[in-house]
Amino acid sequence: MLVAYHIRITGIVQGVGFRPHVFRLASEYGLKGWVLNSSAGVFIEAEGSKKDLDDFARRLVEEPPPLAIIRQCEISEKPLQGFLDFTIRNSEDDDSREVMISPDIAICADCKREVRDRKDRRYGYAFTNCTNCGPRYTIIKDIPYDRIKTTMAPFPMCPECQEEYEDPLHRRFHAQPNACPVCGPHTTLVDASGKEVGGEAVDYLKKGYIIAVKGLGGFHLACDATNIDAVKNLRQRKRRDAKPFAVMVRDLQIAEQYAYIDEIEARWLESPQAPIVILKSRQNPALPTDVIHPGLETLGIMLPYTPLHYLLFDEDIDILIMTSANISDEPLIFDNDAALEKLSDIADYFLVHNREIYNPCDDSVISVRGEGFPHYFRRARRFVPLGINITPGTQPVLALGGEMKNTFCITRSDQAYISPHWGDLNHYLNYRNYLSGIERFKQMLNTDPQIIAHDLHPDYQTTRLAQSMKSVKTIGVQHHFAHMAAVMAENEIQGQTLGLICDGTGWGLDGAIWGCEILVGDYREINRLGHLRYMPMPGGDLNSRKPYRMALIYLYQAWGAEKAAELARKYLPDLSEEECSLLLGQLEHPRGEIMTSSAGRLFEAVSAFLGICAINRYEGQAAIELEARADMSSDGAYPYKIEWEQDELIMDVLPLWQEITDDMEKGIPVSIISERFHRTAAKMFAAVLNLAREKTRLNEVVISGGVFHNEILTNQLVKLLEVYGFTVYQQHNIPPGDGGISLGQAIIASEVSK
Ligand code: ZN
Ligand code: ZN
Ligand code: FE
Repeated sequence: MLVAYHIRITGIVQGVGFRPHVFRLASEYGLKGWVLNSSAGVFIEAEGSKKDLDDFARRLVEEPPPLAIIRQCEISEKPLQGFLDFTIRNSEDDDSREVMISPDIAICADCKREVRDRKDRRYGYAFTNCTNCGPRYTIIKDIPYDRIKTTMAPFPMCPECQEEYEDPLHRRFHAQPNACPVCGPHTTLVDASGKEVGGEAVDYLKKGYIIAVKGLGGFHLACDATNIDAVKNLRQRKRRDAKPFAVMVRDLQIAEQYAYIDEIEARWLESPQAPIVILKSRQNPALPTDVIHPGLETLGIMLPYTPLHYLLFDEDIDILIMTSANISDEPLIFDNDAALEKLSDIADYFLVHNREIYNPCDDSVISVRGEGFPHYFRRARRFVPLGINITPGTQPVLALGGEMKNTFCITRSDQAYISPHWGDLNHYLNYRNYLSGIERFKQMLNTDPQIIAHDLHPDYQTTRLAQSMKSVKTIGVQHHFAHMAAVMAENEIQGQTLGLICDGTGWGLDGAIWGCEILVGDYREINRLGHLRYMPMPGGDLNSRKPYRMALIYLYQAWGAEKAAELARKYLPDLSEEECSLLLGQLEHPRGEIMTSSAGRLFEAVSAFLGICAINRYEGQAAIELEARADMSSDGAYPYKIEWEQDELIMDVLPLWQEITDDMEKGIPVSIISERFHRTAAKMFAAVLNLAREKTRLNEVVISGGVFHNEILTNQLVKLLEVYGFTVYQQHNIPPGDGGISLGQAIIASEVSK
C-alpha cells in the first residue's frame, strides 16, 4: 500500500548538493514526489511503500552529502497526491535572503581525481569545482547565491558545463562557480613588471624563486621550503617580520616527515576546512626551521585546498612556504594590481588569475588541544560566514569588536555571524576593509541592526565609529565582560557563572588597563571580584612592544630602584642606561601613571627577564616564546600571595619575581624557570577561583582571553580546576583572543537592551 511523507530538513543544507542527493536517493527506491529548497530548509514530499519511505528518511539523515549538517528532520504523513515522477522543484525565492551563504570549501576527492586525469577535460585546470567543493563566500557579491551575482559572472558557461549544471544527477547540478578550461577563468604567470613569462610556476619554485600566488581568499608568498636561500630571501625581503611562516605540503604522508601528527590532527589537515594546523615540529634537517619558525617548536602546516595549489607541487617539490601576502600591518593583498604594486620587492614572479576575489579571507589557523578539541587562533576561511548557534530571541545587534585582530559580529534570529579578522584597525586600509565588510555582511544577511555594541576604550577606532553613528542605540561593553560572555554564549550557559579572563589589554571600568580579571555574573550584569595587583605602566602601550620595560617595572616593585637597575644591567641588554634611569625615575615619582593588571604583560616581562624575548616583533611573541622554552619534565613552583582587599581578591606576584631572580642568579636554566612560572600561574589562578567560589557558591567557571592561547597554562589550570571539582568552559569555535569578543558584545547588548 502506498503512503505519502512530508519531510522538512533544516541545518546547513543549501549550496551543498542536498537536492541532487535527495533526488538520487528517491530514485533508488522508485519514490514519486518532489524536493525543494526554501528559506525554512529543504522540503520533500515522497510517495511509496511505508518501508521504502522509512528507509529513505533514515538514510537522508544518516548519509547526508559530505558538507551538509542536519540540525532537524521532521516527518509527517500526508494524503496521497499520486505523483508520476520525482522532480527537483525550483527554489522558493520568496525570502531567499534568509538563506545562509556557504563558506569556501577545499577541493573534493572527485575534483582532485579529474584534475589529475590526463583524459579528463579538466586535467590540470586550476578552477575545477563542484557542488561539494570550491569557492563560495570569497566570490559572492550579492544574494541570492547565483552565478550572476558572483565574480564568476564574466564567464558564461560553455554548453558542456551548462549541461552538467542542469543535470539533477550530475555532481555539478546548480554548482554556481562551475567552469572548465574552455569557459572559465585562467591563470597567468608574470614577472614583477607584469609581463607574461612562459613555463609553469612549479619550475620557477624549483629554481628558488619567490612567487606571489593568488589563491582563493587572497595572495600568498610561496617558495620551496627546503631551499634555505629562498626561505632566507623571503624572510629578509619581508623585513622586520619575525612571525612563523606556514607551509603547504603535497599530502599527509609528506606532512608526517616534518611534524608529529596524531589522528585528530590528521583529520583536520585533510578536512574540507583544510585549515593551517599548528603541529609539533620534527625539526627535520631538510628545512631551515630556525628561519621558518624562529624561537618556536611548532610548525603550521596546511594541505593544498584548491586545484591551483595542487598544481604548485610535483615529484620534486613537496613542501612550500605559504605565507599570507601582506606588508607589515597592512591587510592581506587580494587583487592583481595591488600585488604587483606592493609585492614587487618581495616576489620574483606572480601567479595571477582573472577571477576577482570579492571578499578577501585569510587561512584559518587552529591547533588540537587536550581532549581533541580544536583551538582557534584565526577563524576565517571555511568558517566565515558560518553562523554560531545562539539563544533564540537574541535581538539583531551589530557588535563592532575591539582593535587588534578584530572581528565584528551580526546576530540574526538564532545565529551569530562573525566576520574574518581585519588586522590592526589603526591602519586605514584595515579600517576601510572592515567598514566595507560590515556593509557586505549586512547585505548578505539582509539585516540592518539598530543596536550597536562597542568596546569602552576611548581610543579605539571602533569606539569612535559607534559614537559617530546616529539614530541607533549604542551600548558600550567592557572588554573582559565581552570575553566572558563569548564563552558563555558558545557554551549556551544561562545564569550566574564565574569567569577568569587573562588578556593583554582591555579598558577597565576604573580607567586602568585590565587584563587578569576574576568576574562573576550573567549576560545582563557582570562584576569584578578580583584581579592581578595593579602595576604602574609609564609609557603605556610602549610596554606591550617592549617587554623589557615591563620586566624592569616588575623588578622595581620586587626589589626597589637600586637592585632593579643592577639586575637590568645584567639581564636586560636591550634596555639602555638612559631608558632605565628615565623609567626608574617615573616609577620613583609617579605622576598619575596608567595602571595595569594585564596578565599578558606579566608573561612578556618574565620572557624578557629570562633573556628569551625582550622585544615583540609580532603581537604576543615574548609570551609565545616563553611557553615554547618551558621544559615540562620536572616540577616545582614559585610563591605568590592572594589577599582580600576591600572586597576584592588581589593576586600578588612579587614573591614570584623575587624567587625568579634568585634562580637566575643561581644559573638555573631558563627552561626550568619558565616551567615553574607556568605552573605557578596555574596554581595561583586555581587558588583565586577557589576563593571566589567560597564567596559566590558558584561552581561553573569560564576561561578566556588571549593568554589562553598558551596551551601549557590552559592544560595545567583546567586539570587543577577539575581536581577541585569545578566545571570549566572554554571556547571551541572561536578564538579566546580579541577575535572572539564581538560575539560577547553582541549577546550582552541584546540582553541589556531587552
Ligand atoms: Zn568537487
Ligand atoms: Zn566550460
Ligand atoms: Fe582581549
